[in-house]
Amino acid sequence: MSKSKGFENLGLGAEIVANLTSLGYVTMTPIQEQALPFILEGKDLIGQANTGSGKTAAFGLGLLAKIDIAHTRPQALILCPTRELAEQVCIEIRRLARFTNNIKVLTLCGGTEERHKAKSLEHGAHIIVGTPGRIKKLLEKKSLNVNSLKVLVLDEADRMLELGFMDDINAIASFTPLNRQTLLFSATFPHGIKGLSASLQDEPAQVTVDSQHQLNDIKQLFFPVSCDDQKFEALLRLLNHYKPESTMIFCQSRVICTKLANLLRKEKISALEIHGELEQQDRTLVLTKFSNKSCRVLVATDVASRGLDIKDVSAVVNYDLPLEHDLYVHRIGRTGRAGKEGLSLSLFKSKENVFLEGIADYLKMVSKIVELNTLKPYRPFSLKPSMETIYISAGRKDNIRPGDILGALTKDARLTGSDVGAIRIFEVNSYVGITCEKVEEAIKHLSVGKIKGKKYKVGKA
Ligand code: ADP
Ligand code: MG
Repeated sequence: MSKSKGFENLGLGAEIVANLTSLGYVTMTPIQEQALPFILEGKDLIGQANTGSGKTAAFGLGLLAKIDIAHTRPQALILCPTRELAEQVCIEIRRLARFTNNIKVLTLCGGTEERHKAKSLEHGAHIIVGTPGRIKKLLEKKSLNVNSLKVLVLDEADRMLELGFMDDINAIASFTPLNRQTLLFSATFPHGIKGLSASLQDEPAQVTVDSQHQLNDIKQLFFPVSCDDQKFEALLRLLNHYKPESTMIFCQSRVICTKLANLLRKEKISALEIHGELEQQDRTLVLTKFSNKSCRVLVATDVASRGLDIKDVSAVVNYDLPLEHDLYVHRIGRTGRAGKEGLSLSLFKSKENVFLEGIADYLKMVSKIVELNTLKPYRPFSLKPSMETIYISAGRKDNIRPGDILGALTKDARLTGSDVGAIRIFEVNSYVGITCEKVEEAIKHLSVGKIKGKKYKVGKA
């Protein structure tokens, strides 16, 4: 295998490369290595690689290289299937653009926070990230103008097709200049993608990263169970034995997902669930809590978790095996990222042996089967989070930045930097992770004190 390459020979500009280094992006991921030369050359491209492979930076760096800052009109439009994904892409692009002064990135997705966005749009933005439905509406109302668009990106194209956005996407494209560059990214490659590409792209280059490449650092173990009724006990045993810092558990339906999360909470295991029927706001909160380390276990369905950048998961558990090999690869890809060894634990019933054989064949490996009774004997245990998440009624609309909140917490409330975890700022509110020992103190001080000279509501999220 060839050695991974750095970002310095792409002609990206010294500040961008320095910023990438400061973000810890030293070598390119395989999709970046393969796709960036085409993207920077201005070619249309189809990129296929699974979740967590660094697709955002692949197109993000490409479009940042094309933006003319002096011209505050939308020059890049990124379409994403859901609001959460759009928000994640927006965060990543802002990180990539940290040292490029004054680049404006705006998400447009519909929902309650949108009225605050009209103003931002008036002041102009260089990069727009949004969901097809919302973007189409804004274009039709002429609130959004994409006459100067240089790059159109379809992120998670397979998922957008599943959600029935084909017509919206075509309608949006018809508002954009014909000489644009069109980049299409997808984790899987269902039939519709070819058609979508044919209608929007011009002789696209195609790059595919084979999934095996990325799975080498994941320890994959398979545990036999005799029936579904045995699974919960088996799960407890796995959690007790490995005590992962963070665990993502996949199951096949929303019903099982909710039931499982409830059962885990009864066992004093800090768990939350995410599935397709949760309200958008609740989904954001669940994801924030999980990434803030204020929840140890996230129980998920495939539909709900697809594409979400949930990183650094210590272990993935396949409570129910997925139906397709592709999905298995996607699920376990959430552990063992960026050079850390990951852990994948799968439960299976004897009739699912065929799936195991299929997976082994697909990934060219031998499935390692481990009997549950070889693990540590089960003792009642608890999995507690190290942090709690607090809510502050101040957000981007108040021009609040992470530094303002960190300042209020460390100066006024006298917490140390290590008591404060991730700070996430949304349009109208913010969430902050605080160590469990200091959370009451933090709330007390923030409630009586001020942030940037103003009083805000503060409480546990
Ligand atoms: P995808 O869109 O393919 O699912 P993302 O773009 O969300 O993947 O990237 C997954 C994670 O990998 C993100 O947390 C991102 O910050 C990180 N990442 C991306 N590129 C690199 C790189 N070259 N080196 C290290 N980390 C990276
Ligand atoms: Mg992505």
